[in-house]
Amino acid sequence: MKNKKCKYIFVTGGVLSGVGKGITAASIGAILKAKGYRVTMQKCDPYLNVDAGLLNPVEHGECFVTHDGVETDLDLGHYERFLDFETSKYSITLSGSIYKELIERERSGGFHGKTVQLVPHFTGLVCEKIEKASAESDIHIVEIGGTVGDYEGLPFVEAIRLFANKVGRRNCLYVSVVYVPFIHTSNELKTKPAQNALKDLRGFGIIPDVVCVRTEEPCPREICEKIAAFSGISSDAVVNLPDISSVYDVPFNVLKSGVLAILNDFVDDTCEPDMSRWEEFSRRRAKEYAKTVRIGLVAKYVGNDDTYMCVTEALKAAAAWDKVNLDLKWVNAEDVEKNVGLLKGLDGIVVPGGFGTRGVEGKIRAAKYALEYNIPYLGLCLGLQVACIAAARRGGMKDANSEEFGANEKDENNVIYIMEGQKGKESTGGTMRLGDYKAILKPKSRVAKIYQKAAEKDEYVYGTEALKDGGVEVVERHRHRYEVNQKFLDEIRTGGVEVSGLSPDGKLVEFVEAPSCRFFVATQAHPEFKSRPLHPHPLFREFVKAAGNKK
Ligand code: GLN
Repeated sequence: MKNKKCKYIFVTGGVLSGVGKGITAASIGAILKAKGYRVTMQKCDPYLNVDAGLLNPVEHGECFVTHDGVETDLDLGHYERFLDFETSKYSITLSGSIYKELIERERSGGFHGKTVQLVPHFTGLVCEKIEKASAESDIHIVEIGGTVGDYEGLPFVEAIRLFANKVGRRNCLYVSVVYVPFIHTSNELKTKPAQNALKDLRGFGIIPDVVCVRTEEPCPREICEKIAAFSGISSDAVVNLPDISSVYDVPFNVLKSGVLAILNDFVDDTCEPDMSRWEEFSRRRAKEYAKTVRIGLVAKYVGNDDTYMCVTEALKAAAAWDKVNLDLKWVNAEDVEKNVGLLKGLDGIVVPGGFGTRGVEGKIRAAKYALEYNIPYLGLCLGLQVACIAAARRGGMKDANSEEFGANEKDENNVIYIMEGQKGKESTGGTMRLGDYKAILKPKSRVAKIYQKAAEKDEYVYGTEALKDGGVEVVERHRHRYEVNQKFLDEIRTGGVEVSGLSPDGKLVEFVEAPSCRFFVATQAHPEFKSRPLHPHPLFREFVKAAGNKK
């Protein structure tokens, strides 16, 4: 084993999925991190997809991108927010990627004539992935997607059982998150589904060390004791985690539940976790402030937090640290096409990332509105592209558009065009410009000042470097196929928008801003992926601050 000292926590779910297994796992991680450990996390998901890049965001939520360019689901975003670390390609293991690797190995003769089987080949490869993902950690947490007993998840359950044989049972902690429903007609909590779920888990050879009982309301202690008695688990190890209004209070719920004593035993260390920054964040979030900022999120899929999870979380964190209430207004971009008046009364406008034609004219109008009425604007990826189109139109190019939206027969109007090497790959997976790329910010630009100030104050730590000429180098994650055609920079400038950051080779526009506006900043990147509740991204903070400084 590469990392002999690492300890492993495996989190599985029973009864139902979607009851907060990932947040529970991440909260345990946050507590261990607050005790001073290097903690990493990994999600094993039984989907046959190879990655999440082609999944529909409405069904599956936002597509999260790791620094090394893997398209994953939003769980990894939670992990990063709770643990303030960067996930990687090792942090996500989908069945599809395991099968793909095994089949490719088989096709190239890598199994030397052997029969290839779920056990030991699939399970063995999962164990290898877990080892790789934990190479740099003291404690590695693995969440298994879905619920125990699902056909497709079984090989993963077997893999985590086998893993204990490799590293020693004492170095593994199994946590099961089960749901106990309240039946209103009979006015009682029902433990039977949880008992059955634990029986299933036992049937696969795993007796959990911790059972987290999820309930709507705090449940009487007898409920946990009953589950413990019927499942052969010590009653101290069965704890209640009732619903709570904010996911960021789950770490406190976990602490209250008694899990800390078990974690302390597991790591053989009784030092108290330092939760002071979490406590400060919780206090700030709960407070009602004198000032409220009304931010409009102009988007295609409205009303679904999951679809723009990182963006809304970044806004919420920025508002809490800057001591304002956030009034987030979902604005359907298609409606803005017909009625730009919907933007009236907003203190700030965000145009997040997006793909395809639907609603895009509304987003362009939103950017134009922000420019004309001096409303703080934050453009994220597509939000930069529509800002450039809006500016070019103001600058006299009436038909300015993007090649993605197919409106222009003639390339001469495509202010936004497809990147070199991307043609023909439009509907394929894993082929976009993905993950971390550097940008060089112009000296004295607004973005250079924002990043620089945050780095000096240690508020933001992900790769900001001052350059000798006064510029600043930053690293942000990306997910796009199209880019600004620099042939049109004059028209864009005439419309009020200037380039403030380029890729190091100068070929790609990475940041733009409107110097005449109070705050009009857009980036080709997705800074929201690196925003943390305890360290909100400086662009979001400055945007929310500007929105709060109403004219
Ligand atoms: N559709 C645009 C592109 O591919 C923007 C992508 C995004 O917003 N993530 O370039």
